[in-house]
Amino acid sequence: MYIKLRDLPKIDKLLAEAERQELFAPIERPRFTDILRELVDTARANIIAGSDEQWTEEELLQLATEQNEISDYNLRSCINCTGTILHTNLGRAPLGLRARKLIEMATSGYTNLEYDIETGERGNRYDLITDYLEQLTGAETAITVNNNAAAVLVTLSALCAGKEVIVSRGELVEIGGSFRIPEVIKLSGAILVEVGTTNKTHIQDYEQAINENTAAILKVHCSNFKISGFTARPSDEELTELAQKHNIITINDVGSGCLLQADYLGNEPTVQTVLRSGYDVVTFSGDKLLGGPQAGLIAGSNELITKISQHQLLRALRIDKLSLAALEGTLYEYLYGNAQKNIPVQRMLHENPVESKKRAQRVVSKVNNSQLNLKLTHTKAQAGGGSLPERFIPGFGVHITSPVCSADYVKELLREQAMPIIGRVEHDAVILDMLCVTGNEINKIVDALNKMDFTECEE
Ligand SMILES: *Cc1c(COP(=O)(O)O)cnc(C)c1O
Repeated sequence: MYIKLRDLPKIDKLLAEAERQELFAPIERPRFTDILRELVDTARANIIAGSDEQWTEEELLQLATEQNEISDYNLRSCINCTGTILHTNLGRAPLGLRARKLIEMATSGYTNLEYDIETGERGNRYDLITDYLEQLTGAETAITVNNNAAAVLVTLSALCAGKEVIVSRGELVEIGGSFRIPEVIKLSGAILVEVGTTNKTHIQDYEQAINENTAAILKVHCSNFKISGFTARPSDEELTELAQKHNIITINDVGSGCLLQADYLGNEPTVQTVLRSGYDVVTFSGDKLLGGPQAGLIAGSNELITKISQHQLLRALRIDKLSLAALEGTLYEYLYGNAQKNIPVQRMLHENPVESKKRAQRVVSKVNNSQLNLKLTHTKAQAGGGSLPERFIPGFGVHITSPVCSADYVKELLREQAMPIIGRVEHDAVILDMLCVTGNEINKIVDALNKMDFTECEE
């Protein structure tokens, strides 16, 4: 029975009923109360206006529950159907369970973040993960900062300020979000010496540029593009031998450092390989192929890492305890040989296409909305985040068209879901790449497509 004006329920009574039915969690009580209050006001206005939209008490509670389930945080979960595993706009690497557990542990009480439990004295946050990094990279030691941009900046500041740094013209790159190598070198107080050309740089180019004011040779990974064709670069061994001969440092910003040797890497070396080829310092990201939190890792010789750790900038660029917790949880999986299974990014990169095919098939078979046409489609996913720019990961997705609406409109409706579903449009069809989609998200995609309402589509 629809509620009548004189029967409009009291908020307290509705709340008690919702509580009895466990429609909300205790922590949500204030929010649920606000939602009920607004709905009752709307119900009152509707009755007075004689509107068609009148509710029973049961419907009122159901509406409140639905609204309560829609997140009102600014930061929201999204479903990544873009086929880009490390999507910088979608937060790069999703964390594994162990990393998430450690964040929970590190934030729900006090920790030994900078407290040495054995001696009862002040400890050092960096020591928490030094062992892991030494064992995994093979470097003498390592230190961690806020992100890889910070790692490059503090490394150059500590080791090269006031002196010259030699970089090939083919590596003076810009990496999204205005991180430009020439600008970073300037900011560090070092002097950039460009050598070679965009496509070809020879070992002699480097050798001729070395003088008594040279601090280092810097190599930068061309993360987000590829120069191919008529090209030349000295090998890592040639560069590091040259530097040793002249007693200067070699630094390699590998960008998306991978710790796991895998087929998908193609010719990309792992961090261990790069260090073995003789570089004194290697910097890489925590949230690219490593699959951990935002962080910048600096691995290298004891002497140079000590110098970096004593630089004033380190304090300003230091890693926070949440990221440190997540990093330990991530590195733990590598150390015990479970990264491929337990680090989501690694799992996706190694996944057999049969798996994304199954997920795509589930969506196609469970959606029966007469306004939509769905079919299975081949997709080419990417690592993203400037990692492996040329590599495509074959897999499967869902191809969606609508006889009543444009693909752009369908894409928009998907984005407007309580948990936004982010796909792309190709040849007037929406493509949902299923590589980065997990079990429970499939049901959300199915629900969204089944409930899709086209009444506001004007075409
Ligand atoms: C991504 C990248 C960076 C920046 O790393 P962040 O962790 O995003 O700060 C720096 N250098 C290279 C070569 C990169 O690929």
